[in-house]
Amino acid sequence: MKSRIHPVYAEMERTVFDRMSALAREHGAINLGQGFPDGPPPPALIEAAARALQEKSSQYPPGAGLAELREAICAYYARRQGLALAPEQVTVTSGATEALAAAVSALVQPGDEVILFQPAYDAYAPTVRRAGGVPVSIPLSPPHFRYTAEALAAAITPATRLLMFNDPLNPAGTVASHAELETIARACVEHDLVAVCDEVWEDVRFDGVAHRSLAAVPGMAERTVKIGSAGKIFGLTGWKIGWMIAQGELATALQRAHQFLTYATAVPLQWAVAEGLALPDAVLADQRAEWNAARERLRNGLAAAGFVVLPNAATWFLNVDLGASGISLCDSEFSERAVAEAGVATVPVSALYQGEAAPRHLVRFCFTKPAEVLDEAVFRLARFRERLLG
Ligand code: PMP
Ligand code: GLN
Repeated sequence: MKSRIHPVYAEMERTVFDRMSALAREHGAINLGQGFPDGPPPPALIEAAARALQEKSSQYPPGAGLAELREAICAYYARRQGLALAPEQVTVTSGATEALAAAVSALVQPGDEVILFQPAYDAYAPTVRRAGGVPVSIPLSPPHFRYTAEALAAAITPATRLLMFNDPLNPAGTVASHAELETIARACVEHDLVAVCDEVWEDVRFDGVAHRSLAAVPGMAERTVKIGSAGKIFGLTGWKIGWMIAQGELATALQRAHQFLTYATAVPLQWAVAEGLALPDAVLADQRAEWNAARERLRNGLAAAGFVVLPNAATWFLNVDLGASGISLCDSEFSERAVAEAGVATVPVSALYQGEAAPRHLVRFCFTKPAEVLDEAVFRLARFRERLLG
């Protein structure tokens, strides 16, 4: 008998992030798993949200988002990335996760092949499968996670329609070079592919380099869906305000998909994000400086405790190489045991790969936590490592 449940959901597990956060609660562990900052968000945004609740309408905003927010998003990208965007191209969504779902349901038809680089945010593959698409993986290799023309050429077939590209890359914390962006753009133009660009980490960079969007590479603007999230820019993951930007018929299709996913998203928070995006760059710079100090603290602490940490230029995450740190457990075993025995939750990087290509020696740590929390986590992890090494 045919199952009542769609096979994508019948076979799906709870996400690694939710699972590790639940285990952290169960064991009273320090949660360096799911990515979120513990520190307070910029006060101006909290004040703006409170003011919006008091003073503005709480009824449905326009489905595509408040005009003020769509304008603020365009002004923000003009200022920070030199992009010339129009508000009609922007759809405000309930986080980047909704934008990804809307883009895939608008653009993927049954049988279409969709290139997914691995590791990837774990929503990509099931969302593509639910739309009838066929995920085609290009595994990226640690520690540099580089994109090559050869790997793209080997993966693209006449059935390829779409490519999903996350830059900066979670969980790696790496950033694509200009040459890599051009390689990807050439493949998209040559094979007439649309690129869904998940750029949620665009403003969480520590290399001092301004983010360059794939949409800014010549030939790409008309074939790109650029996705962003206030959750990452301001460290407000629970607000779930995101957006997607595209031109012409792509933008229209995205808006149609969005209207029957959620129609609209929390209006007081839209007002607040509009104000936030217009704040002086110094506000974001201060927040980034705090995150960078936390990054240095965890990196140095882990290194002093004998853990080998991979290079990282962006995101809230550092990755440890277990094998190089003298630990013979695979990443999932390490994460399961560390939360229970050391009281520190982490994310096994293999959970963000599909299938066999997964490296089994990398564990991700979220560093956007207060200094004393990071110090205690390092202390616990150091003891745990010593016990494992016997
Ligand atoms: N894409 C990537 C690469 C992410 O890391 C995340 C969140 N960690 C998202 C999308 C989802 O963003 P949001 O919370 O805005 O839905
Ligand atoms: N992608 C986030 C992370 O890397 C988590 C998102 C979620 O839990 N939905 O931690």
